Amino acid sequence: MLDRNNKKEEIVQGVAASPGVAHGEVFVIHQRDLEIPVLELESTYIPREIERFERTLFETRKEILRVRNEVAERLGEGEAKIFDAHLLVLEDTALIDETIRQVEETHYNVEHCYSEVAQRYIDVFAALDDEYIKERMTDIRDVTRRVLQNLLGQTAQNLYELTSERVVASEDVSPSDAAQLEGSKVIAVVTDAGSRTSHAVIMARSLKIPAVVGLHDITKRLSSGDYVLVDGYDGTVIINPGEETLFRYGKLKQERLNIQKAFEKNSLLPATTLDGKTLKVFGNIGGPEECPAVLGYGGGGVGLYRTEAMFIGSDRFPTEEEQFQAYRRAVEAMQPNPVIIRTLDLGGDKMVSSFHFAQEEENPFMGFRAIRFCLEHRDVFKDQLRAILRASAFGEVRIMYPMISSVEELIQANRILEEAREELRNRHAAFDEKVQVGSMIEIPSAVIVADLLAEHCDFFSVGTNDLIQYLLAVDRVNDRIAHLYQPNHPAVVRILSQLMEAAQAKKVPVGVCGEMAADPIYVPLLYGLGADSISVTPTSLPEVKYLLRRMKFKDAQALAKKVAKLTDPEAIYMTLSSFYAQLMGDLFKDT
Ligand code: PEP
Ligand code: MG
Repeated sequence: MLDRNNKKEEIVQGVAASPGVAHGEVFVIHQRDLEIPVLELESTYIPREIERFERTLFETRKEILRVRNEVAERLGEGEAKIFDAHLLVLEDTALIDETIRQVEETHYNVEHCYSEVAQRYIDVFAALDDEYIKERMTDIRDVTRRVLQNLLGQTAQNLYELTSERVVASEDVSPSDAAQLEGSKVIAVVTDAGSRTSHAVIMARSLKIPAVVGLHDITKRLSSGDYVLVDGYDGTVIINPGEETLFRYGKLKQERLNIQKAFEKNSLLPATTLDGKTLKVFGNIGGPEECPAVLGYGGGGVGLYRTEAMFIGSDRFPTEEEQFQAYRRAVEAMQPNPVIIRTLDLGGDKMVSSFHFAQEEENPFMGFRAIRFCLEHRDVFKDQLRAILRASAFGEVRIMYPMISSVEELIQANRILEEAREELRNRHAAFDEKVQVGSMIEIPSAVIVADLLAEHCDFFSVGTNDLIQYLLAVDRVNDRIAHLYQPNHPAVVRILSQLMEAAQAKKVPVGVCGEMAADPIYVPLLYGLGADSISVTPTSLPEVKYLLRRMKFKDAQALAKKVAKLTDPEAIYMTLSSFYAQLMGDLFKDT
């Protein structure tokens, strides 16, 4: 089929990462291939060349600060911290001195020298094959690109400076790009790499920006100015869509918008099933600024407050007071609903630039992450615990520890929590003595010892994003094995069922806060297996609640029983999809 400019329509299949349809001109962010001239300079030019370099660094600093402040204003200080990390890279004296030395010694132009030196850093880091270091590589690449563009007199690619709507195509969504998405003219995101559970993608979903990831070479196939259509429901990207395709998708988009309206119409009502049972449905947030969205979409509280944003991208950790102010804002905004604050989950794909965390790890997802970090950095942990406890004086707060793998860890964390309480008592600071404490269940060993963990906490919250990755040994952010990341694997159904049974025997409530709970196909299964609450991205709340109000709890239980007996992932998926289709089919009949 040919489009209006007689170009061939091409369909590329990727992984659906954030629902929605958008079409428009592409803006390609190339992270690697800037053309760097190589020029040999007369020695009399060298001082001027160095001066040009220093001036550019100064200008780049101003530019990063501008973006930082823009992001801080729109998204809060937490999200803006990534740019503090960029400033540290920009001002890295080793990088600057080495570049100047090269210019002086080789007499080559500064663009060439700077890019060579930066590339050497990147190569050394790349050889280490370490996730933490890779994150730092992303920072160096981002900053180097910015400096080189400025040296070359090109405009740096700041997403929020886009003057008209664009589909952004990029190798991956870098943390600094993700931080600029809100309020920008970005109408969709397509990437070569990436996965549904990476944090940048979770961000796109919460901003309702359609995204398709895992497209392998989309940045090579597209150039800025090309026209594409992005179907974030199906994970397809159509290059040069023809009139007929645009018309079909225009209809689809309108129908989906009507469906979304239907979802949102009663989203403030409780999620009560046709047979009169109510599932508690909460929202996941990354900071207090997201509380209005949780309430607006009908969330009955915050089921997961990811607290890492304030820690990521800064050379120092936030103080107790700074944290307390943020937690208090969330708690006050959500009154009288509960707010479950998760303690620090640094590591994996949530890296910090703070220097005392920097260390090389072969496998950060299995490494010094979350509670493991906190139990070794007790002061950092206790600062946070005191801040959370103090926020409990302003509304209902619950504390939850991530990545618990053994009873000992839970006992140790509780001991430190008790010390934090004691310190507050000595200070005569107000807090709720009865704050509930929960353990995240996201490591298979935690399920196996759930009966023992139950003796030391008040609730469980299942982090399916990690539980699936550790259970199936499938890295959640590796697009090459994304097809193996299967929530519909029989082992996932069995492990969840085992957990619910153990928790019920001990009368410990179980919530589910991973992305599986936001996928409407899986919600009836989770409820039928015995979940007491679920917590999802705020924008997913209306659909999930709508679905729950259309079904019977006893049918969800029968479904869970049936699915527990199935042995094949495909059969599990088909059974869940047809249950979903029976409930919602009439809504989608035309789409
Ligand atoms: C999870 O692992 O499912 C979870 C909710 O935590 P995160 O995605 O922040 O690791
Ligand atoms: Mg997790």
